[in-house]
Formats: sequence, structure tokens, C-alpha cells
Amino acid sequence: MKMDTYSVMDSIDARGRQGATLYTHIGDDGSAWLEGSRCAACGTVYTGARTSCGRCFARDGLESIRLGATGKLYNYTVVYRSYPHIKVPFVAAIVDLDEGGTIKGNLVGIDPDPARIPFGLPVRVIFRGAEEAIGEQGEGFVAHFFVPASEGEA
Ligand SMILES: [Zn+2]
Repeated sequence: MKMDTYSVMDSIDARGRQGATLYTHIGDDGSAWLEGSRCAACGTVYTGARTSCGRCFARDGLESIRLGATGKLYNYTVVYRSYPHIKVPFVAAIVDLDEGGTIKGNLVGIDPDPARIPFGLPVRVIFRGAEEAIGEQGEGFVAHFFVPASEGEA
């Protein structure tokens, strides 16, 4: 069985920032993307590395893929209370990616008002420093966020 290995240490940008998740990949050119797996037998796409398929139970043939960078807002909640130093309110979202896979993240670049955030909203995946999260060496992290597809780079 082919086993893809994911390592945070493989994903460090020029500023020494790590990917915020095991499936955040930072390329040699500094560009970032989310990695996933696709089942060769049934086509189901998962976030991150998988060795078996939860849909068709295939135990082989999951290939590593780059997840798509656009999707639709499946669900969200506006968070008003969080850990110290985390700015609130923020929008914690679940997005169905257009090319497969479902992923959690924060929706930014939008007023955190439920009246203005429709389900199914087209979004883009962006990457930027997660200012509140600093590693042991003070190097920070690169995290994914969602922005409305109609918005420019946030
Ligand atoms: Zn499958």
C-alpha cells in the first residue's frame, strides 16, 4: 500500500512559518494549498491524508491531491466568546469545496451578521498568517481562511 506522509516540517515558508494544519502545504515558492486524498475506486475526496475510503471501504488507491480553492458555504456560526487574545466576533465556517472535500475554517472579509451571510455563499480559500497563533519560536503559522468569492484578496 502506498502511504503518503504529511509532515508539518515539510511545510515551512520563507519566514519560518508552519502550516497551521497537517494538510496545509507550503510550496518552495511560498504558495500554499490544502492537501487531500481522492479514492481511485469511487472518487470520494477527503481532507488530508487517508489510507482507506469511508464510503466504499477501499483500502488501497487513495491518491494525494491538491484540494480546490473555491467552494460553497455549507454552514457557519458567529462566535462571540473565545480564548483570551482571540478577537470576536468571528465566523467559524464549514465549506464544501467545489472539487470535493469539506473543510472547516474562518470566514473573513464579511460582516459577521447572519442576515448578510447566506448559506451556499460562494467562497475562495486564501492563506495568511494566523496572527494570534504563535509557535514556540515565535515563528507563527500560515492558515487557510475563506473569503466571499466576490471579494478581492483579504
Ligand atoms: Zn472509495
